[in-house]
Amino acid sequence: MTFDRSGVDALMEITSRPELVFVRGQGSWLEDHNGKRYLDFVQGWAVNCLGHCPPEVVKAINDQAATLINPSPAFYNAPSMALAKRITGASCFDRVFFANSGAEANEGAIKLARKWGQLNRNGAFKIITFDHSFHGRTLATMSASGKPGWDKIFAPQVDGFPKADLNDIESVRALIDDQTVAVMLEPVQGEAGVIPATHEFMQALRALTTEHNMLLIVDEVQTGYGRTGKMFAYELSDIQPDIMTLGKGIGAGVPLAALCAREEVSVFVHGDQGGTYNGNPLMTAAGVAVFDALMAPGFLDAVNARAKQLSDGLNALSDKWGMQGERGDGLLRALMLGRDDGPAIVEAARDWEPQGLLLNAPRPNLLRFMPALNVTEQEITQMLAQLEEVVARVRS
Ligand SMILES: *Cc1c(COP(=O)(O)O)cnc(C)c1O
Repeated sequence: MTFDRSGVDALMEITSRPELVFVRGQGSWLEDHNGKRYLDFVQGWAVNCLGHCPPEVVKAINDQAATLINPSPAFYNAPSMALAKRITGASCFDRVFFANSGAEANEGAIKLARKWGQLNRNGAFKIITFDHSFHGRTLATMSASGKPGWDKIFAPQVDGFPKADLNDIESVRALIDDQTVAVMLEPVQGEAGVIPATHEFMQALRALTTEHNMLLIVDEVQTGYGRTGKMFAYELSDIQPDIMTLGKGIGAGVPLAALCAREEVSVFVHGDQGGTYNGNPLMTAAGVAVFDALMAPGFLDAVNARAKQLSDGLNALSDKWGMQGERGDGLLRALMLGRDDGPAIVEAARDWEPQGLLLNAPRPNLLRFMPALNVTEQEITQMLAQLEEVVARVRS
């Protein structure tokens, strides 16, 4: 296959992309239009939790596509109820609303918190979020996000998202007034460069929000579904949030997301929330297959074993090259490079011959690793060896 320029020119330009087209994928491997293979440690930004084209998800989609694609959200369908029961059974939440993207799930969480504030807190509507956080690309979720510059691009912002500092409970306390209804955070800030909220901070947030009759919302779009070695990252800090959003891994690559809430907080009335594709059986059938794969005995143990292997390997690389160590939870990790050559490493790794390596640098001074959760020991060994060669070349 040749690279099709006219096709490129027909797409709206929203980011810079390398001149290659991926044509197929299997597990941890992608193949481009020239037949070159790439070891993929980005996996669609932590989306493909079972790797590319996992057989159980392919089968679920095929079977469901031949059975029922979309009866409309005005009717019940079996896969959506089966998936909702699985998620509530595995978490502290009682109700699920399915969405099509992480941003849409977060938008729903914001609406739900505001509605709860109208009913229980005299119209309190402010939601404290955090500097450098990322919650999506709708107007409200961009306003909730703490990405530098995002307060200006599409001004005016949606009102009511004061920003605190992660892991600084006093900075949260200082922002609380009688209009504050909730605190929302990522248990591990992903786009910011894999910065975990500490156990103590999560516990202090839970205590503080309870004390002030406020809701605690966890955005687990990136951290949920086994990514941190637990099914949900909030479990790492032994707390129970009031609302959780899921995305990315929940569909293993198909557009599926979820807004989860405890019974007392599930206050939408008819007409408050909905959407044409929400909870459609094609996506939720894929979701059931994903959930069952993650819940299989030993799956999360393997994630934790691979996480340790990756962490040890990155630390060794860091020591050898005088870098600044690594951090993260489970298979969401970052290597601190100590200088701003992340983009150069990403590019050199991708262009490596004969096989490329796909990595991600959300900040110029670090690399983020988000392999498939079923990545093999051998694939991690191979990635570490190749990364070492790439670093050697870039830094020579
Ligand atoms: C990716 C991400 C989102 C946005 O999800 P989309 O599906 O891209 O809308 C929201 N929150 C977090 C923490 C994310 O990592």
